[in-house]
Amino acid sequence: MQFTDLGLKAEILRAVSEQGYDTPTPIQQQAIPAVMTGRDLMATAQTGTGKTAGFTLPILHRLASGPNDRLTRVSKTPRVLVLTPTRELAIQVEESVRTYGKHLPINSLAVFGGVGINPQIANLRRGVDILVATPGRLLDHVQQRTVDLSAIEIFVLDEADRMLDMGFIRDIRKIIALLPKQRQNLMFSATFSPEIRELAGGLLHNPASVDVAARNTAAETVTQRVIETDREKKKELLCHLFETRGWHQVLVFARTKHGADALARTLDKAGIKSAAIHGDKSQGARTRALTDFKDGKLVALVATDIAARGIDIDALPYVINYELPNVAEDYVHRIGRTGRAGMEGEAISLVCHDERPNLRDIEKLIKRSLERVVIPGFEQSATAAPRPVQPPRGARKPQPGRPQGQKAPQKPGGPQQHRSGSRHR
Ligand code: AMP
Repeated sequence: MQFTDLGLKAEILRAVSEQGYDTPTPIQQQAIPAVMTGRDLMATAQTGTGKTAGFTLPILHRLASGPNDRLTRVSKTPRVLVLTPTRELAIQVEESVRTYGKHLPINSLAVFGGVGINPQIANLRRGVDILVATPGRLLDHVQQRTVDLSAIEIFVLDEADRMLDMGFIRDIRKIIALLPKQRQNLMFSATFSPEIRELAGGLLHNPASVDVAARNTAAETVTQRVIETDREKKKELLCHLFETRGWHQVLVFARTKHGADALARTLDKAGIKSAAIHGDKSQGARTRALTDFKDGKLVALVATDIAARGIDIDALPYVINYELPNVAEDYVHRIGRTGRAGMEGEAISLVCHDERPNLRDIEKLIKRSLERVVIPGFEQSATAAPRPVQPPRGARKPQPGRPQGQKAPQKPGGPQQHRSGSRHR
């Protein structure tokens, strides 16, 4: 199947072809026709499957297919609302809208916390067709009456599982209550847990359901390996791997913000250009680190799970789990950063003695045992030192109030606004 077989508007097909894509991914093949008909949709798909274009393309098609005056009237209230758990994802979704909608007179805007609200208010006033938002900041706008959600025709809940993990459920329910009853709903989630099922039950009406690839499995193209070692050898081992393998563009996962900072400093000192990205970093610092990483100015980006969630890099060759995540599903999310869109990828986990239970959970979840590799000089000792205090396995750290990342101080002059389309048509 080709994109040209889907019946999308010519302006959209042109933009897709300018991106160099001719074949829709499996989720796009299934989701695009369903969304184009106006049906609700429940899609189980991880990041990396092409899910974003799976909803932005048919949404653009639907907006552009209505009466023309709706696209040309001046003061517009948003017609589409996309909720995302993180600002990074909000930016990426809005960029996708802008990329594929560039030949259409459609405006989009991303609003998220951690940056000044006033420029967002000014942009909302000028009129927006597609609004991409994180829940907390959207509710701030609702409270200040700077956004009107009464004309929303299509509502998208992206990465719904992560939204629930981050404690957004009450915010989501508040937002849904503000939307018109008559609307199209699309819900995307990497997992289909009982909580997600319940949320879907209340939100979606007779949805088309799309489930790409088996859940909790990684792309076939990702080679997954485990190096068993000791906790205190990990830093040296990681530096050794960088030196001997000539790695570039490596995403390294650490469990804590503090650990991410410390590891980035160690790598940097060893001559491996690195930066850390996590919720305590300002928006400016995060954007800069991501840009430098994409441009090849950084060899390694050390990230916590939540900060890495929205990172979108076409061909990330390596993912390193410096520490295994507490929650096995996060392993699948992490390694989903590589092997995307059919590219080869390698995921290596450094596992010390007291992470063995975490490894067992992961292997149980993905239903396979991972290849063990021994690096001479870094073998795991027979008896290992006890692990420092940490939360019980399977427990997420409590996240009171807003999730991490929403409270970063405002950086004056940073890249805060993302909007598209012409305001003077
Ligand atoms: P997503 O799952 O939406 O995060 O997309 C993953 C990556 O796949 C993004 O970098 C997209 O630009 C890319 N992508 C989306 N659709 C296609 C396609 N049909 N062919 C190749 N790459 C694609």
